[in-house]
Amino acid sequence: MHIYWWRDPQGRILGFVLNDARLLSDLINRLPDGGEGDSQLGRAEIRLLDSHDETLYSWGAYRGEGPALRSIGLSHPLGSWKLEYHAPELQQVSSGGWLGSLVSLLLLATGLGSLGYLLDREHRRELRLAQQRVNFVNQVSHELKTPLTNVRLYAEMLQERLDDEGTEPTVRRYLGVIAGESQRLSRLIDNVLSFSRLQRQQLRLTPEPGNPDEQVERILQTFAPLLLQRGIDLSFDAGIDRSLRYDPAALEQILNNLLSNCEKYAPDSGLLRIRSWLDGAMLCIEVQDRGPGIDAGERERIFEPFYRSSNRITDGVAGTGIGLGLARDLARAHGGDLSLEPGGSGACFRIRLETTR
Ligand code: ADP
Repeated sequence: MHIYWWRDPQGRILGFVLNDARLLSDLINRLPDGGEGDSQLGRAEIRLLDSHDETLYSWGAYRGEGPALRSIGLSHPLGSWKLEYHAPELQQVSSGGWLGSLVSLLLLATGLGSLGYLLDREHRRELRLAQQRVNFVNQVSHELKTPLTNVRLYAEMLQERLDDEGTEPTVRRYLGVIAGESQRLSRLIDNVLSFSRLQRQQLRLTPEPGNPDEQVERILQTFAPLLLQRGIDLSFDAGIDRSLRYDPAALEQILNNLLSNCEKYAPDSGLLRIRSWLDGAMLCIEVQDRGPGIDAGERERIFEPFYRSSNRITDGVAGTGIGLGLARDLARAHGGDLSLEPGGSGACFRIRLETTR
């Protein structure tokens, strides 16, 4: 396996795995062909060996088993490979022939060295491009955030201003769609921005005093119409009801991700139960749906970035695959965790956040 890696200025290790078959075929295409009648080599052979001393390619007619008469290591980044010169006996090679072989050996080593340099340069270029792409997505998300917040705010203000009797139901419905969709987009953008901050290790938590039950209640109110449309009823057992120091933005983002997953993956599942309680200094919230649940083999994988399971329910549902991983990272940064609880029908996620004095 060829893994190229390096440490960036922030101390992160970045790397990629080269496709071995492709590397070898590109390499062999650049080398002289290994025909039996290679006149320069006479009855000798040059072998290209990998780090396990396995022959990757050879030139020349000689097929002896003995040790190599000469061996040259390749330069970075193929430093673990070498070239070996095999011949029946050194004396049998005429001095002209031997010199010719040495020259071709050196030429080969230089050729492979430049190939290594080209690979290295390509790898740096790819990483630069990847970095630019990440920056671009980050920038666009930032630019989208302000106008979207305005759309959402004005739609919500308009909803509040419309009096129930005098307003046409369709107007209410249209406004509901505008508010709902802009909330969904805001959540997506928040996820992208937090994900990028986490990657750059720039995510900062800011604990402040607040009543988590009241906050959960507010979040549930925002989600209730959307969930109701999808055949899901909410019930909330509030068991904290006091002020604690925690980061409300982190809790909101974790809950947003869990609730929007219920909306996406557990439609028409009836009751969605949310409970909150205190376990020592740990603020605990459980979100239990009655949807299809998560297969045993995927219980940990769903927390991996970009992982999306594929089945009858999830196929065709839009998503980025970063929601659960991000929610878990946020909970861990908050001295707690996000876990998928075993047993029961449907999926049951438990959030634990450490509260401070
Ligand atoms: P996304 O929803 O963007 O795919 P997530 O990280 O939020 O990404 O979720 C990862 C995967 O976990 C989803 O693709 C889905 O298959 C599965 N999943 C998450 N929540 C639930 C749930 N409540 N019920 C069933 N499957 C779920």
